[in-house]
Amino acid sequence: MSYNFKDYIRVIPDFPQPGIRFKDITTLLKDGPAYKAAIEALKESVADLKIDVVAGPEARGFVIGAPLALALGVGFVPIRKSGKLPGETIEASYDLEYGKDKLALHKDSIQPGQRVLIADDLLATGGTIATTTQLIRQLGGEIVGAAFLIELGYLDGRQKLQGMNIRSLVTY
Ligand code: IMP
Repeated sequence: MSYNFKDYIRVIPDFPQPGIRFKDITTLLKDGPAYKAAIEALKESVADLKIDVVAGPEARGFVIGAPLALALGVGFVPIRKSGKLPGETIEASYDLEYGKDKLALHKDSIQPGQRVLIADDLLATGGTIATTTQLIRQLGGEIVGAAFLIELGYLDGRQKLQGMNIRSLVTY
């Protein structure tokens, strides 16, 4: 069966603040076959990239990144909000489409030279992924690409991530 994943994504106006049209993926996640098909499609979209490990930012980066890592047969590295990881971390602050945030990564989570695929639910301004990239590179990781369920083309996140292999299943 071929899926139009947009049919499974719910758009909620004015969340979390007026003017934002929030793409809600919970409607896709709760549908087993659609969720599985989305992970399979993402796996196929990165088949040309040699990947040692997948890294995903909290929290929706986990629900895409972890199953994608399993499907690829590689490990998963969680990138978390500041203050959540128990070991020694490196951290970086960044701006969101709405608001500000700080991300952290365990210092020993990536080995120098490892080929890392970043995974998240959605590419908006690219701020999250630019910061994630910065953290991974600080540890000596090589970013081979970034995979998303959704890309918001009108926010032009790709521009911030110039030169990166970007794969997304649906674009708004
Ligand atoms: P960026 O840093 O501006 O690219 O924003 C991407 C991050 O914000 C992702 O981690 C998303 O989970 C979250 N995000 C931004 N807009 C939306 C949305 O419309 N739906 C779901 N998540 C969103």
